[in-house]
Amino acid sequence: MHNATLSKQTSTPTIVVRSPYDGTVVGTVIETKADSLDQLIDRARLGAQIARSLSRHERCAILEKAASAVDARKEDFSVLIVREAGKTITQARKEVTRCVNTLKLSADEARRNAGEVIPFDSYAGSESRQGWYTRDPLGIIAAITPYNDPLNLVAHKLGPAIAGGNSVLLKPSELTPFSAVKLVDVLVDSGLPEEVITVAVGGAELGQALVSAREVRMISFTGGYATGEAISKNAGIKKLAMDLGGNAPVIVMENCDFEAAVDGCVSRAYWAAGQNCIGTQRILIQRPIYERFRTVFVSKTLKLKTGNPLDVDTDVGPMISARAVNRAAAIVEEAIEAGGKVACGHKPAGSLYPPTVLEHVPRTCEAWNEELFAPIVILEPFDDLSEAIELANSGEYGLHAGIFANDLNDALEAAGRIDVGGVMINDSSDYRFDAMPFGGFKYGSMGREGVRFAYEEMTQPKVVCINRPKR
Ligand code: NAD
Repeated sequence: MHNATLSKQTSTPTIVVRSPYDGTVVGTVIETKADSLDQLIDRARLGAQIARSLSRHERCAILEKAASAVDARKEDFSVLIVREAGKTITQARKEVTRCVNTLKLSADEARRNAGEVIPFDSYAGSESRQGWYTRDPLGIIAAITPYNDPLNLVAHKLGPAIAGGNSVLLKPSELTPFSAVKLVDVLVDSGLPEEVITVAVGGAELGQALVSAREVRMISFTGGYATGEAISKNAGIKKLAMDLGGNAPVIVMENCDFEAAVDGCVSRAYWAAGQNCIGTQRILIQRPIYERFRTVFVSKTLKLKTGNPLDVDTDVGPMISARAVNRAAAIVEEAIEAGGKVACGHKPAGSLYPPTVLEHVPRTCEAWNEELFAPIVILEPFDDLSEAIELANSGEYGLHAGIFANDLNDALEAAGRIDVGGVMINDSSDYRFDAMPFGGFKYGSMGREGVRFAYEEMTQPKVVCINRPKR
């Protein structure tokens, strides 16, 4: 573990990570305290010098080798994700496959995205100039990540940062640090000089210290809205990239492929026990098919198996903690008191929350407006597409939306008018390909991830201009 040596010198407290499913110990890790910031920065500064001296072919080779190594150890990584984050084994395997792709895409950026020639002679008076811009590293990037995709969301920060020649101070979620630590081990074993990435495991206090350090040139954060807001207040003058929360809507038109709509929504409302920023939270159904949709949706929901995430038959694993369950349950209780109805579910036990369907949720409730981040979905009827778009646009988040429709005009109308970073047509809100620009409108994010886009955020153009008088 490459962070241990550093942490041992400065602190002895440990963090015990437990399985969200059965409470067994996954491992312990030395906690990095906020007061070791100076030491972290010294190492990251050295890392930045080393990182920028790596040639593009060296960065490429490291990232490609790491991608192959993660692929070769897919099952180890998958089981670790299940153990620390509680995702089902099927979902964890998918995350590892995506991580391999994220690292390969990062290698591609290192190889090809080095800048451009600037057409100086397209401006009268600049005919004597020739030149280009390069993509230079920023220096030290602080990467802060959440618990719900503990491997691939880390890869989405480390891959582009390494491709761009930066050093990284990585603070993974203290609830799920081991996938991140293992990925860093793989990168170092693949040839990355170990000073280039410093892993610091700790909570909010450590996060705050990293965020406010003057030497850090960019914060790449993925997590909740409230944390994002706290970070923006502490950061001072540095680049901020934020991927925050959502409460994604999916519109179901009466003329759509009914089975595809039900199956897509069932799968993506409860994926990762609903702990998914683009998971489907509000399903808006055109009134003529509402009752039929509701009946089939609830019946398919009731067939899902909740339980041990290591069991391949399990559809819905645990939430990250009983605390997270209690928060979601309180939001549901508020909706029920305001007139909402439970069509199925809502009998949590420990960290297991059965897939839950709500109806008649008033638009003033938190369940409608906030991110539930739990296996809970709201069904709501609408009469025409304009009303559906208005409902989809309610709230302050705008990450992803989906629409199931057979009429292309309806689908494109929705795509044009819903204020989100991605509209999935004939799909749920929960589709992401790691090369596409990923982020949200409104308070859903600031900047974009997706390897090329993160790489461009993590590098800065430098212009070189030669004044060569014409002969
Ligand atoms: P969180 O905001 O509680 O924690 C995220 C990270 O921030 C953790 O590493 C945490 O230790 C750190 N942190 C906490 N307080 C901090 C502070 N004051 N300063 C600096 N760092 C601090 O989020 P979570 O509960 O781990 O994850 C769930 C949230 O993440 C959800 O809101 C979800 O939508 C969001 N998320 C967004 C995306 C996306 O790409 N848009 C992807 C996954 C998760």
